[in-house]
Formats: sequence, structure tokens, C-alpha cells
Amino acid sequence: MIEALTVVAMVWLTVTTPAPTQVDWFRFAALAICATIHIQMSRRQEERRRSTRKPTVHIDLTGIWSFPAVVVLPIHLALLLIVLSRTQRWFVARRPLYRFTFSAGSMLLAAMVTYGVLVLFDERRLTELDVPSSFAEFGVLGLAGLVYFGAQALIIGAGAILLSTTKPSIRTVLGTKEDNELEALTIALGILTAILVVNIPAALAIMVVISVIGNRIAEVRQLQVDVRTDPKTGLLNMRGWHEAAERAFERASRANSPSAVLMVDLDHFKSINDTWGHPAGDDVLEVVAAALRSATRPGDVIGRFGGEEFVLLLPDMGTPEAVAAGERIRETVSGLQVPTTDKRGGPVAIAGRTTSVGIAVYPQHGSELDELLKIADAAVYEAKENGRDQVRLASLPRSA
Ligand code: GH3
Ligand code: MG
Ligand code: MG
Repeated sequence: MIEALTVVAMVWLTVTTPAPTQVDWFRFAALAICATIHIQMSRRQEERRRSTRKPTVHIDLTGIWSFPAVVVLPIHLALLLIVLSRTQRWFVARRPLYRFTFSAGSMLLAAMVTYGVLVLFDERRLTELDVPSSFAEFGVLGLAGLVYFGAQALIIGAGAILLSTTKPSIRTVLGTKEDNELEALTIALGILTAILVVNIPAALAIMVVISVIGNRIAEVRQLQVDVRTDPKTGLLNMRGWHEAAERAFERASRANSPSAVLMVDLDHFKSINDTWGHPAGDDVLEVVAAALRSATRPGDVIGRFGGEEFVLLLPDMGTPEAVAAGERIRETVSGLQVPTTDKRGGPVAIAGRTTSVGIAVYPQHGSELDELLKIADAAVYEAKENGRDQVRLASLPRSA
């Protein structure tokens, strides 16, 4: 449906747009060559990314070439450039065809929307501008950049909601801080490229260098995120949790605010693996992680401490609120329905899983994060001893 609309719009625009001039073809060739060098020189990276089990964010700076194409070229040439660079990417990435059509489709749609916005402001001279009109022109470029990337983010976000099996969190739809910074960088470089291709086409060589190196820098940044992330659930791992929780804890305690540490341990998790197999256990972990995210506030720090244990720092939460949050989590998990497969690959739904939650609160139980962790862990142990499926507030330390 969307695909059909995209194709119809493309054909219509192609028929109604005047034939490209020689200058248009020259600019098209310059951008296409740059995009090709960029894609080919970052293909190793794309191959590495493909080899990881769970692909992380797609680092894609090719907007550096497609955005200026939308700005300076007649729309049909811009669309052709997008199709050309997507096709090359697809050969490198060898991803499923539907992913290719989806990502190419979203870029083409975004290009047409952006073109529409540019038409509203018809003037598109990027050369020989006096000072006031250069400001106006820059404003239009900035707006077009936001529209181009905003439209893509919207389409991809909508696609993520439609295609994914588990409920995606707001975070996966809006993207992480790193994704958004990368987008901002791409918009900025795309605007520069548009100015260069009109004024000093030879200087596009600089943009090629920047785009290729930019890809590598983005990959290193992604690795920095990866070492703090648990790949199975997307939550923070132990290291990431400690760093983030320490910061949030400091902030709250400096403001004289209480904070709570919650340890969440799934009951008899081993029996899930034993009964339905390891993949079923993994699915349960993923769904529980998503439930923890949706049952907490954005400022809460959630981690997976390996295995089937999760730990949460809830800043600015005193004892009663923390116990209520623990209860909410216990109830949420017990209400989950996890569609998965049994050992033979047949469909099963796992439901009614119980959890034991241990809670320690600053300042009552301790003044350091590590101390609170130990105490919350001991409270989980007490909850297990006491019959599981319960929230246990740590007993207060005996005063000396
Ligand atoms: P308890 O109620 O006492 O917490 O029992 P339990 O079975 O949940 O706890 P135990 O610590 O004895 O076992 C934890 C199990 O979790 C053992 C291990 O097989 C399983 N497990 C740990 N990590 C993973 C994982 O990543 N995936 C799967 N499927 N299972 C895991
Ligand atoms: Mg357990
Ligand atoms: Mg455990």
C-alpha cells in the first residue's frame, strides 16, 4: 500500500519535473560518485555489523549525500540517487529484501516530503547571496534538514511498531542519544555538502573524507555503548548499571532525597529452561526486561546482573513508594504472557511467573550504593526463604 503510493508519487514527480540540465547531471554525478566511495569504503564496517548476532543501531551517514541531492537536484534525480545508494548498500549488507524496500521507501518518501517543503519556499539559490538572504536560505536549509530526517524517523518508528513482536519502548522509537547525535551530525554535514556542490564541487572530496572517518568514529561510539549494554535484553549490564546508578544516586543524595535499590529475581527460572528449553527462557527474560522498563519512570536505572536477576535504582523514592513500586513490578511480571516455543519448536505461552524482590533504601539501610546492593540482595534471599513471590524490605541494621 505505502509502497504503491511511493511508486505512484515517484512516477508522477518524474513526469512533471522538467528534464535535467547539464549542470544537474554534473551535480548528480558528483554526489553519486562521493556516495559510492563512502559506501564502498565503509563496507567492512557494514560486514562486521552484520556478523553480530543482534545487530545494533544502523550507522548510516549516507544522508550526507542524499539530503543535498534533494536540495539541489530536480526531484527525480534525487530519487534516483537514493535508489542507487540504497541498492549498493543492499549488496554490501545482504539484508532481507523487505528491509531494503522498507528503508529505501522511507528515504524516498522523506525526500518527497522535503521536496514539498522546499517548493513552498521556492527560492533555492545557494550562491552569491547577500547577508540577509544567506540567513534566510540557511534557515530554509535547516528546516529542510529537520523535515528530511524527522520524516524518516517517523516512518521508521511507525514501522518498528508495526513489525516488532514485543511492545517497543518509547526509547526504541525515539532512538538513543547516540542515534540522535548521529542524525544531527548527518543533517549538518548534508547542509554543508549542499552548499559545496553548488559553489566548490571539488571540495566535496573533503566531505568524502569526513563521511568515511565519521563512519568509523560512529562505530567506536557504538562500541562504547555496547560494553555497557546487555545484548539479550538491551538493559544496562553490570558495568553500565554501576556507572549510571552511581551518578543518579549521587545526584539524589546531594539533594537530600532518598533512593531505593530493588533487586528482582525470577522464581524457579531454571525450571523454564528445563521444561521448555533455553530459547524460551531467553524470551521470558526479554519480555520481563521490557515490562520493567514500562513499569518504571524514565529516570530509573535498570540493569541485568547476568542470569535472571535485575536490579533497579529508583532515585527520589522513599520506603513506602519503593515498596509500592516493588509490588507493582511483582504483579506486572505475574501478569505477563510470553509467547514462545517449546523444546520441539511448537508454540507455547508462558504465564504466571512469580518473582522475589528485595529492597534497600538510602539513607535508612546504608549510605553507599554497594552497601545497598548487598542489603537488597540479602532481602531477596529472605524473600526466597519465606516462600518466594513476594516483596521484601530489608530489615533495618541494628544500631551499634
Ligand atoms: P530461585 O527461585 O531460587 O531464584 O530459582 P532459580 O531457578 O530462578 O535460580 P537459580 O539461580 O538456581 O538458577 C538460575 C537459572 O537461570 C540458571 C540458568 O540456567 C538460568 N539462566 C541464567 N542466565 C540465563 C539466560 O541468559 N538465559 C536462559 N534461558 N537461562 C538463564
Ligand atoms: Mg531466580
Ligand atoms: Mg538468581
